Amino acid sequence: MSKTHSGTKTQEYLERYMEGVTKRNPGQPEFVQAVYEVASTIFPYIADKPQYHESQILERMAEPERVISFRVPWTDDNGNIRTNRGWRVQFNSAIGPYKGGLRFHPSVNESILKFLGFEQTFKNSLTGLPMGGGKGGANFNPKGKSDNEVMRFCQSFMSELVRHIGPDTDVPAGDIGVGGREIGYMFGQYKRMTNSFVGVLTGKGLEFGGSKMRTEATGYGAIFFLRNMLVQHKDTIEGKKVLISGSGNVATHAAEKCLQLGALPLTLSDSGGFVHCSDGFTQEQIDWIKDLKGVRRGRISEAADEFSNVTFHEGRPWNVEADCAVPSATQNEVNAEEAAAMIKNGVKAIAEAANMPCEQGAVDAFMDAKVLFGPAKAVNAGGVGVSGLEMSQNSARISWDEDELRRLLENMMRDIHDSCVEFGGNSEGPINYLAGSNIAGFVKVADAMMSYGHV
Ligand code: NDP
Repeated sequence: MSKTHSGTKTQEYLERYMEGVTKRNPGQPEFVQAVYEVASTIFPYIADKPQYHESQILERMAEPERVISFRVPWTDDNGNIRTNRGWRVQFNSAIGPYKGGLRFHPSVNESILKFLGFEQTFKNSLTGLPMGGGKGGANFNPKGKSDNEVMRFCQSFMSELVRHIGPDTDVPAGDIGVGGREIGYMFGQYKRMTNSFVGVLTGKGLEFGGSKMRTEATGYGAIFFLRNMLVQHKDTIEGKKVLISGSGNVATHAAEKCLQLGALPLTLSDSGGFVHCSDGFTQEQIDWIKDLKGVRRGRISEAADEFSNVTFHEGRPWNVEADCAVPSATQNEVNAEEAAAMIKNGVKAIAEAANMPCEQGAVDAFMDAKVLFGPAKAVNAGGVGVSGLEMSQNSARISWDEDELRRLLENMMRDIHDSCVEFGGNSEGPINYLAGSNIAGFVKVADAMMSYGHV
């Protein structure tokens, strides 16, 4: 490869690189999509930085350090033996112990966990805290399972995971299908098996080492980031109508923070459809939905039966007229057609609170239309950021108060925003947050890897 190269050459190198990634990862479209999204912004950045090419840094970064896959047998309430598959992808430990959530959902497979672990590496770097990237989970569906079944599954899952994690090695957290209940069962099993009480999981209950603000951090952080993007572009979040998808941890806290900052959360959703409140959901309604989805484990459509100003619709919420959108459910939940509808309806800013919720075609449409686009690895980094603070509190055996943690979260989101501006500044249009977040996350991990030699 030449020492520096032109735009055309950069494109050629990117295409050749992606051919290699696609060939080495057959049947893993989500992972290839995530690598492309990062590589397409990193290749132009490193075009005049031969040290990164010579050390094959992007090739090494797209290969997880380790993928562990294991059997998870458990017994259901009728005495039947059931078997699921569990994984832990330990993607990159250049700047700290592996860190990233566990997802329990029937769609979980190696491609999805590799995409999430890859993304997590850059996201964790952006927080400024010493955390590497990892992700894990199982193709287990917690929906419709009793508490006892979930407990037995979590205990079996941890019986294998225990040998691969540790407070200085790998510190998992929650994700889709893994909330406080599941973390409690898994932490309890880890403690029994190792006879040690250490900060090996984050998102724990406040009674056993959890951090205040961790539950709220991802959703709150996403809306802080949205506000920062708007302010950077001489606008304000007050009075903005916001579309939110999902109705889990991230979505409900994003809705709550919108309300606190004077914006109107118009929609929430689940896999059955979405609910719309043209007045904007109130705190009382959000609390009711939190209880419905998080405790009673019901369907979002029930909110329309409960509240007279709420309507239920099938499909996704992206055709509703609004100013901003915060997809907060899952990957690939906004396609190019839906992006075009949002642009037509006047949406000015997108903040990806879920991981990779926008398909590549949607991302391209937003960027072409100069809609402010906040990518997941920056927007939702507040969750892992407060997880990092939970690790610090556990190591020091202290517990910070809520005001202090809220201040730290807000500052962290501001710093992440400013790093994106530093690397994604653009004299011709809005800040390119996509390039900014990828480059800011990349530099620290790449430089650490280079210091270690060929690892
Ligand atoms: P939850 O399990 O609490 O909620 C997930 C929500 O998304 C539910 O409303 C669920 O609906 C919906 N959903 C899941 N899959 C689909 C699907 N295929 N189609 C439509 N809706 C779907 O998860 P979280 O809120 O924790 O996570 C949401 C997103 O945020 C994920 O992408 C996650 O990776 C990301 N994230 C989460 C963090 C955290 O701290 N929790 C941190 C950073 C990122 P239903 O009930 O019908 O399944």
